[in-house]
Amino acid sequence: MEEANGASVRWHQLRLYVDNHLHDRYLAPPLTVVVAALLTLWVPVGQALLWAGVELVVIAVYVSVYLRFRRAPAEDAGRWARRIALAHGAHMAMWSSIVVWAYQPGDLSSLMFVMLVHVGLISLTVVMSNPHRRLLLSDLVAPAVALVGPPLLDGSLFSVGLTALGLLYIALMLLVGLKIHASTLEALVLRQRNDQLISELERQVKRDALTGLANRRHFIETGEEELQRATRYRHPLALLMVDIDHFKPVNDTYGHLAGDEVLKAVAAVCAESVRGNDCLARLGGEEFAILMPETGLDEAGAAAERLRVAVERLRCELHEGLVTPTVSIGVAIIENTGESLSSLMRRGDRAMYAAKAQGRNQVVIAPALAA
Ligand code: GH3
Ligand code: MG
Ligand code: MG
Repeated sequence: MEEANGASVRWHQLRLYVDNHLHDRYLAPPLTVVVAALLTLWVPVGQALLWAGVELVVIAVYVSVYLRFRRAPAEDAGRWARRIALAHGAHMAMWSSIVVWAYQPGDLSSLMFVMLVHVGLISLTVVMSNPHRRLLLSDLVAPAVALVGPPLLDGSLFSVGLTALGLLYIALMLLVGLKIHASTLEALVLRQRNDQLISELERQVKRDALTGLANRRHFIETGEEELQRATRYRHPLALLMVDIDHFKPVNDTYGHLAGDEVLKAVAAVCAESVRGNDCLARLGGEEFAILMPETGLDEAGAAAERLRVAVERLRCELHEGLVTPTVSIGVAIIENTGESLSSLMRRGDRAMYAAKAQGRNQVVIAPALAA
């Protein structure tokens, strides 16, 4: 199984980070207003209002960066992480700036307020920033300094205790954040492996393992859709039924593995001869079918003849000897009488068996369906 793609995991980490923080647009503005109102207890109203005004602008900027990121194609996660770090870093710096201009040394209530704001900020950061390790760490720097800074300025025993408490709290929250980050990363990697596995299984369900062509099941599904479309819009649709001639003797003479090589070589010639819209499949054994949308009888007959000649020219130089396979091809086109896919395939098959009966290595066109 393919390893989880690192770039894609990093993009999803950033996406989770942004999704978490997008909720900020509802929480952060009212919180800013409440904190500004409380700040008026210690600083002039104008100053608190100025802080709230600048912070609301900062919020608008980072929310717009998040929204742009959400619309961006999954590409350079590193460049977006730097942009987000800048936009969100401004928000963290604004909140932590409170400590510089609103903390009143010696005023216990101001100290408690400032510490409470930063304990809250650190908790929220751990909850919301954990999906992205680098952003988690950079988001924590400013509130951590702001939490332990004020009590450090004051030399009392009580303040030293508060600083120790603050440091313990930061260490604990950092551990919690990194632990959640590790589980989120594991879940993301698992999800990506799961997605890879599902798409591989889906691919295998549609493919023939030996030749890599579509298998019968996929051919029938695609065929039904093409038939419906062709019938609805009265567009032509042709079917080629292709069978390798005298294939059993190849197996009997050279062995099954050599037979497999011949099958793959014929499949490759068929694949080279079809157009982009055609559906080529291995129906089973040494039988192939090609559905050709927008193709009338003359064009389909000419394509079948080109394919027959291409296979005739094929020289399979195997370890066991030289094999020069040929194919018999039956061609049928739908007639707009509501014909089913199975009926079209039956007519194609009959034409192919007619080609066998007429000596093999030839193309036979199915007669028109009787009205
Ligand atoms: P005809 O010209 O009438 O089509 O003769 P034929 O021998 O090609 O037809 P027949 O149906 O008798 O034999 C088909 C053979 O295809 C029999 C089977 O062993 C072989 N075959 C079917 N599937 C595979 C496969 O996956 N690998 C190999 N090597 N042989 C296969
Ligand atoms: Mg055959
Ligand atoms: Mg056959």
